[in-house]
Amino acid sequence: MRGACPLDCPDTCSWIVTVRDGRAVALRGDPHHPYTRGALCNKVAGYLTYTRSPDRLLYPMRRVGPKGSGAFERISWDDALAMIASRLREAIDAHGGESIWPFLGSGNMGLLQGAYGAGSRFWNVVGASRHVQTICTIAGGFGTGYTLGNNRVGMDPETFRFSKLIVLWGANVLSTHPHLWRPILEARKHGAFVVAIDPVRTRTAAASDWHLAPQPGTDAALALGLLHVVLGEQREDRPFIDEHTIGWDAFRQRILEFPPARVAAITRLTIESIVDLGRRLAQTRPTGIRIGIGLQRHGGGGMAVRTITCIPGVTGDWRHAGGGVHYDTRGFYGLDWNALWRNDLRPNRRHSDRADGRDPRELHMTRVGEALLELDDPPVNVLFVYASNPAVSIPHQAKVLRGLARDDLFTVVVEHFHTDTTRYADLVLPATMAIEHRDLLIAYGHLYIAWNEPAVPPPGECLPTTEIFRRLARAMALDEPALYDSDEAMAQQMLASGHPSLDGITLEALKASGSIRLRYPDPFVPFAHGFPTASGRLEFVSDRMAQAGLDPVAGYTPPFEATQHDTALAREYPLALLTPANHYFLNSIFGNVAAQRQRSGAPALLMHPDDAAARGIAAGDDVRVANQRGSFVASADVSDRIRPGVVASTKGHWPRHANGGTTVNATVDERDSDMGGGAVYHDNRVRVDRLSGA
Ligand code: SF4
Repeated sequence: MRGACPLDCPDTCSWIVTVRDGRAVALRGDPHHPYTRGALCNKVAGYLTYTRSPDRLLYPMRRVGPKGSGAFERISWDDALAMIASRLREAIDAHGGESIWPFLGSGNMGLLQGAYGAGSRFWNVVGASRHVQTICTIAGGFGTGYTLGNNRVGMDPETFRFSKLIVLWGANVLSTHPHLWRPILEARKHGAFVVAIDPVRTRTAAASDWHLAPQPGTDAALALGLLHVVLGEQREDRPFIDEHTIGWDAFRQRILEFPPARVAAITRLTIESIVDLGRRLAQTRPTGIRIGIGLQRHGGGGMAVRTITCIPGVTGDWRHAGGGVHYDTRGFYGLDWNALWRNDLRPNRRHSDRADGRDPRELHMTRVGEALLELDDPPVNVLFVYASNPAVSIPHQAKVLRGLARDDLFTVVVEHFHTDTTRYADLVLPATMAIEHRDLLIAYGHLYIAWNEPAVPPPGECLPTTEIFRRLARAMALDEPALYDSDEAMAQQMLASGHPSLDGITLEALKASGSIRLRYPDPFVPFAHGFPTASGRLEFVSDRMAQAGLDPVAGYTPPFEATQHDTALAREYPLALLTPANHYFLNSIFGNVAAQRQRSGAPALLMHPDDAAARGIAAGDDVRVANQRGSFVASADVSDRIRPGVVASTKGHWPRHANGGTTVNATVDERDSDMGGGAVYHDNRVRVDRLSGA
């Protein structure tokens, strides 16, 4: 049976499940997929075992002890749905629909069952608060959109095979989207030079030809410094600039403010390395740049992605196959998104007499602690969590847990396993996994669309998320027909947009082949002849940014904390903390799997030998990592894989398995980045102390 990996990864691997006697006996990558070519990563290799875990949730459960106790008893679906329906009605009657927060994460990236809006129709009818997924790519998406005209576009990753210079900018390809490595290797075979820019010498950086380790959050300054060298070499592409960009004079002035010496002081790289990379950039066509998602998780993250995205506008790389910037590909899918969401079902759009005529309020997922503890207009009375584990993944962990512990908050969690979040749930509902339900899948790291057909029936009483919402609509006696559409009907509605990228791509065709590339040429050079901005040009200067109160010229916005020195904050918390991806977990998924935890090891803190020595810390010592928001315990990993002044501890560990019961997000601030309300996981300062007696 054909399907695709639904996890939060750019690659969306196509897979084939072998079923014998009604049981899934093998899962392997589809060798015929032109991009993912039959390879699944180490995280998903054991996925079948994961689906059959003895601790998998199989029945609806009701909490019977105090919040946080983890004491539950089994109840029927009918009782669970009746209880939810009744609590939703109570909340609506007392405070209106906005007192309900549908909290959706990226635990499942399927269009029907997961992150893109599963349940949206239901929540629109109910008039619930609108959930904004600020956790992931949003700041960089805004930066991309202000520059290119669409938040989710860039170069086709398959064209990296044509690149002659490849810059992996904050992107640990081998751990987080391994299939991009194949076109990179192909380019290398033809002489491409691969540069990794990352404060940590990751697996990817170690496998690259050259590694530069700047101070976190200074990437935009580095981009401007590199362009300063390009201008010095007189290698800007004037015909491209004249024909396809606007705002060059202002941007050129901005670049000239960042000579290599100034950039070296900001980034703490050497002037020589900045000049060397700048010259390579000046002289090498095409240059392909991959921007990692972590790069934009700081106070200037949106601007950082914007400014890097301007580089090929100066060098003219956007005109070449293998040139440009790859950040996201989702903007190329011409699906009918409103057919999935049905925003027209919101109360103000259905009832013209609604007093203020506005859409329900937005709530940012990275500020859940603040929202649960401080909002009162109206307060959040019902939290419905699905495909998410906020107790692990959301900043300011202590505040999140205090919010979840509110006795007057009714919390439903749809899950596969008991997590740190389900401990605070009133009801836990068992969800299907990918091999047990239908779904339509896109990617943010290539241009294929896939259909996932269930290979086996759901175990126990697990239900697809779509079916949970259909039953909930019935329990609430809602009469909107769209709430009862089947999974296949919703997929067909999305595919029937008439957009040329989907020409001939029907549900039947997807079922037959598993996945299909969008109808773009190969090689696809999306911006060789123009950009989807209002001006039709790449915008070095953006009127939309000016209207939003932002600096309209691409530039450098320093992070809030990461680059501080000689301030009171930096003196108290002298080290910048990064929270990169773990090679064995995917966000918080697999954090409960003993074998993966064993491979990953306990939470570790990577620190430079100079920083360790200054604190009397040796490799393997337990250390406390702390700041004004919280602390966690980790084992010291002392190595020059990280630059001095910076420490790193991977995300994804679950507090319940961690020494001390907290993890790295205990120290992260819940404030917004410069654009879109994005998260600031990598904009954080801490102190590190050896634990006495360690
Ligand atoms: S996590 Fe990524 S690389 Fe691994 S199987 Fe899923 S899509 Fe493929």
